[in-house]
Amino acid sequence: MTAILRPQPTKGAKRAIVRPSREEAEQAIETLLRWAGDDPDREGLRDTPARVARAWEEWFAGYNVDPEEYLTRTFEEVAGYDDMIVLRDIRFESHCEHHLAPIIGKAHVGYLPTSKVVGISKLARVVESYARRLQVQEKMNAQIAKTIQKVLEPKGVAVVVEAQHQCMTTRGVHKPGVTMVTSTMLGDFRENATTRREFLTIIGNPVSKADG
Ligand SMILES: [Zn+2]
Repeated sequence: MTAILRPQPTKGAKRAIVRPSREEAEQAIETLLRWAGDDPDREGLRDTPARVARAWEEWFAGYNVDPEEYLTRTFEEVAGYDDMIVLRDIRFESHCEHHLAPIIGKAHVGYLPTSKVVGISKLARVVESYARRLQVQEKMNAQIAKTIQKVLEPKGVAVVVEAQHQCMTTRGVHKPGVTMVTSTMLGDFRENATTRREFLTIIGNPVSKADG
């Protein structure tokens, strides 16, 4: 994976974003350190702006990739397999777009292929490329589902995301242990209760646990 952010328009963004330089980013971090009340020139903090910039390159690497590209290489020779394909417990780390606080959780992805199936690691890549952006859980959930639906054109897609939001556990209402569960059901998963139930059973029913 490349971790080099170049000043270029963000792929998939509605407006082209011109990125500031690395140096400007590091200066911004230095400003925040001073604003927090510390001295950015003391030894322990001297390299912090550069380290934070590097960390951001990893955490927000999703802006440099096009999730749809992961799904373009498909296999059609599946010996008539047309049942559900599920990848569960895909761990992800994201950041909330309101507080820049970590969102840590797992996604479960299922689809009902028509003729095209995709390597399962590619589904995890799609999750990762949306997670490594500033996010709202509901939006990320829908983006993952819609991308799979659009590129693979399956009979249906189901995506459930369970996550803890550190903006809620470490500040604000301070509610550790709270998990937010969201789901997007498309096609057969939306229309057919049996299909949906089968998927939810495979992933351990986080949705009904959250309801009850
Ligand atoms: Zn937040």
